[in-house]
Amino acid sequence: MTVRFAPSPTGWLHVGNARIALANWLFARHHGGAFLLRLDDTDPVRSRPEYAAAIEQDLRWLGLDWASLSRQSDRLDRYAAAAERLKAAGRLYPCFESEEELRAKREARLKRGKPPVYDRAMLSLTQEQRAAAEAGGKRPYWRFRLDDTTVRWEDGVLGRREVKLQAVSDPVVIRADGLPLYTFTSVVDDIDAAVTDVIRGEDHVTNTGVQIDIFRALGAAPPRFAHLPLLTDSDGGKLSKRLDGLSLRSLRADGMEPTAIAAYLARLGTADDPLLADLPTLASGFDLGRVSRSAARFDMRQLLALNRRALHGLDYAAVAGRLPAGATEAFWLAVRGNLDLLDEARHWWDVVAGDIDVPVMTDEAAFLRDAADRLPPEPWGEATWAAWIAALKAATGRTGKRLFGPLRLALTGEAEG
Ligand code: GLU
Repeated sequence: MTVRFAPSPTGWLHVGNARIALANWLFARHHGGAFLLRLDDTDPVRSRPEYAAAIEQDLRWLGLDWASLSRQSDRLDRYAAAAERLKAAGRLYPCFESEEELRAKREARLKRGKPPVYDRAMLSLTQEQRAAAEAGGKRPYWRFRLDDTTVRWEDGVLGRREVKLQAVSDPVVIRADGLPLYTFTSVVDDIDAAVTDVIRGEDHVTNTGVQIDIFRALGAAPPRFAHLPLLTDSDGGKLSKRLDGLSLRSLRADGMEPTAIAAYLARLGTADDPLLADLPTLASGFDLGRVSRSAARFDMRQLLALNRRALHGLDYAAVAGRLPAGATEAFWLAVRGNLDLLDEARHWWDVVAGDIDVPVMTDEAAFLRDAADRLPPEPWGEATWAAWIAALKAATGRTGKRLFGPLRLALTGEAEG
């Protein structure tokens, strides 16, 4: 069994991508298969090396590893060879219509109540017409001629699915500048890498219909497919609008633990509660069959709650390098139970050793001075607090909020516990 995660390096990975990567990795691990990383970087304008490097870094941070890494930009020869085969088989045909011409045709078809499918006008282009167009300086782009059938497959998540290819336009697979496009290159790669299972987002279902046809045209048996329903935000709205803040980079910068993210994403969209465990444990229980067919809600509060639990269980050794300079194990053990995000430890270190903003508390001045006077002499230890509080209660008669409120504010700058 071989699976792949195939992001385009045109932006930072976000939780939606991470979920697909993780599903592939866990699936491979569960079944003893190989997980491949492929960078879909044929678009020279949108692909950037820094995004490619970040993808590797972010996946590693999440704890994933891969058997091999390939780049589509290294494989242009393979795509050219496959294109020649398809041309020889009459499955690729040259086209010259401009964007405006195509738009006009689409509109005309819509007006007549027909689906806006490409009319294949260029299929009947004669040699002379083509030669004339090329003599006029035009270069053709190439469409793949879809079979006039309905493609069916048993989806690993969605169940029986079909795509009526008559309702789909013949896809452009090679641009006029010679650049091959994803729909096509992905199939060539999946064949060459002997990918057995394609696990990706539900937005690719139509592509799957088209790609199964391309697999067949290239003489290969299509792999199995599984499409994960898309993520929505916690109100059921589109998550895509908020994805910038949900990149793995920004979550890491915010102090989110990779274990919490993996635990959350591994079971998102299933009826099972997240399991805070290492990746091999998540893999052993991983089952695509448990993923629901409807959209999954991404709820930041749930992720934060998991992060809180993850932090609570972390040893000092696991975080020492990420704590503010000087922070000790005793400090970590004291504060970890208060944190939603590791970053908040900074604030607590300021409370312990740095500067904090404390409002002037005129009404409480006498009480606070008294409290300061009653502090037991140093050295302070674990028993100091209890002794001090007991002394203050006895001396002032204060309890609860009246006792702890002003102390908290004076000592931490925090109004709430
Ligand atoms: N580069 C494609 C994407 O990021 C890959 C889709 C696929 O898995 O085939 O959507």
